[in-house]
Amino acid sequence: MSAGLNLAQTQAVHHIHGPSLVLAGAGSGKTRVITQKIAHLIDKGLAPSRIAAITFTNKAAAEMRERAKGLIGGKAVKEVIICTFHSLGVRMVREDGEVLGLKAKFSILDSDDVLSIIKECGGTTDSALAKQWQWTISRWKNEGLNADEALKVAQSDVEKVAALVMARYEERLTAYQSVDFDDLVGLPLQLLRHHQEVREKWQARLGHVLVDEYQDTNATQYELLKLLVGERGHFTAVGDDDQSIYGWRGATLDNLKKLPVDFPNLNIIKLEQNYRSTSAILRAANHVIGPNPKLFPKTLYSELGEGEPVRVLDCDSEEHEAERVVARLMSLRAGNPMPEWRDFAILYRANHQAKPLEKALRKAQIPYKVSGGTSFFDRSEIKDLCGWFRLWSNENDDPAFLRAVTSPRRGIGHQTLAQLGDFAGQMKISLFAALFSPMLPTRLSARALGGLNEFGRLLNDLHYRASHAIGSEAARQFLTDWLEEINFENYLLDSSDSPTIAATRWGNVMEFCDWMAQRAGGDVDPSEGAGGIVTEAKSLLEVAQTIALLSTLTEREKDHDVVTLSTLHASKGLEWPHVVLAGVNEGILPFQQGDETPIDNSRIEEERRLMYVGITRAQRTLAVSWARRRKKGRDWVAGKPSRFIGEMKLAAETAKEDPRAKLRALREEFARKAAANEQTSL
Ligand code: ATP
Ligand code: MG
Repeated sequence: MSAGLNLAQTQAVHHIHGPSLVLAGAGSGKTRVITQKIAHLIDKGLAPSRIAAITFTNKAAAEMRERAKGLIGGKAVKEVIICTFHSLGVRMVREDGEVLGLKAKFSILDSDDVLSIIKECGGTTDSALAKQWQWTISRWKNEGLNADEALKVAQSDVEKVAALVMARYEERLTAYQSVDFDDLVGLPLQLLRHHQEVREKWQARLGHVLVDEYQDTNATQYELLKLLVGERGHFTAVGDDDQSIYGWRGATLDNLKKLPVDFPNLNIIKLEQNYRSTSAILRAANHVIGPNPKLFPKTLYSELGEGEPVRVLDCDSEEHEAERVVARLMSLRAGNPMPEWRDFAILYRANHQAKPLEKALRKAQIPYKVSGGTSFFDRSEIKDLCGWFRLWSNENDDPAFLRAVTSPRRGIGHQTLAQLGDFAGQMKISLFAALFSPMLPTRLSARALGGLNEFGRLLNDLHYRASHAIGSEAARQFLTDWLEEINFENYLLDSSDSPTIAATRWGNVMEFCDWMAQRAGGDVDPSEGAGGIVTEAKSLLEVAQTIALLSTLTEREKDHDVVTLSTLHASKGLEWPHVVLAGVNEGILPFQQGDETPIDNSRIEEERRLMYVGITRAQRTLAVSWARRRKKGRDWVAGKPSRFIGEMKLAAETAKEDPRAKLRALREEFARKAAANEQTSL
């Protein structure tokens, strides 16, 4: 047996020729198998650059890189490809996209950009309708369909219209030299499917591919994996069908069923020991998942002892719930040995549930971070700056052009922009190309033209300077000059509700620029990038080229001692000693869509898996909270505990927590500490 692995794990690690699937419940060491296998493959002589480990999020990739670094050292880890399917896709398309007619400098659109293009294509300003199209188009793309094929499978009238919008949308993306997130898997797939030389190149390059969270791959990702590994099928997939929680985004358990069929020599390994959670927690998890149909039966046990009973916090309102959750954190924190704040996570079903929790945490002055929620990069001031960067890296990116020209507005009014847009539309060229067209002066007034010409000059000038700002010092200088030239600080002052807000936003801008400059320095730890390997000094322009991707893919992680607030979806694969699942109300988890009654059965199954994922994040203690009343708009609505709380089958006497006794104990503890402090200071 290798160090730190049990027998079954060792077998999984040692099986390096041909395909293997590790199928096991939560916390059984699947991810550990992947990291150890990277080391083992290198030990056996495979070059690090011929190993690709694919994770579900960039954050998971960063963590895996960190772990692998401990095993194989910093030099080797830089060569191993550890990234998400999307980041791998970016690499492949940048390297080989030319055969698909894509230049190396394409832009990656975030979902806001996609939405505005879809609105244009569908000729609507109705966001709800456009979002519905966006989802439908994305689903088709994930199923590997193009617009023509989508039209054939479209069933309802809404779907038929969506397929027509899709056709126009695809044309636009080509014209803008842009791709969306789904393309980052779809295009590499096209590359491998239709271009033999590219396929052979990648198959020869990759000696072994490892995939974590395999149960949440979608149809295109599976196809991509198959083509990457070819007939030899040197790969290791690890997953848990009970943790499949991305069905709504096109992930399909069919991928698990297909593996043994497509690869008859598949070596299936099951892991049964859970190394994460106490028996009390694991039992609750097993009870909850019990009612779901079994794809692959498995048993899971823990040797970590019974541990603390799982608690249920029955609260009056959402605010009360937040206060109690925080009180629980404080009382656990008073324990011996004292846990760090980073040992705690509060998990919930939907992003909006973070707000009352944030307020209560702030009140108690407990440091926290919201992960998987509104990220730093989603702030409007950061998106404004990214608009400029994207435009420098791809002049045809019209949404970026619009952001740059309006932040700040440079005396170029709506009307002028509309005229420019009309002209570009007629000529079938991008806004940027229209700006420099010799025909433009015949269409616009001299005044309108003056503002646009000045903007064009500025863009060219900045583009030139950004490409010569190499290394962090030069980049920093350039960024400072640029912000001054476009008067960005004043713009923030003018567009913010108060000077304090403007100051915060300016602080964000500074932090962002600092980070950009560091990246230009090239001495950045690769774990900060989105699967990219950043080692040499770069020009700011090169850094900007990766920004569109980073701005949406990377969740920035500062390694501070803070409580994690996260959605259940974003908590996948992670673990904390102390976990609270908040808002476990019927209608929230399982989530009820609109007036859907009863909740659809297949949805209940997926929600149950989500609850299972939540429970199994906990190592030592777990509490589940719910509120008797909730605010819905302006009204109060009565709340019921989630059916999943009942399904955890907690023994009634141990589940009940007496808040008064807890508070009393807490008060006594503080009084004792205060007295001790007084004594020492005397
Ligand atoms: P999930 O399904 O949640 O992704 P997983 O199966 O990937 O879980 P890991 O995260 O790899 O599980 O492991 C869970 C915990 O157990 C980690 O803290 C890991 O370090 C530990 N662990 C795994 N295998 C062993 C082992 N053989 N000995 C000791 N600890 C282990
Ligand atoms: Mg894992």
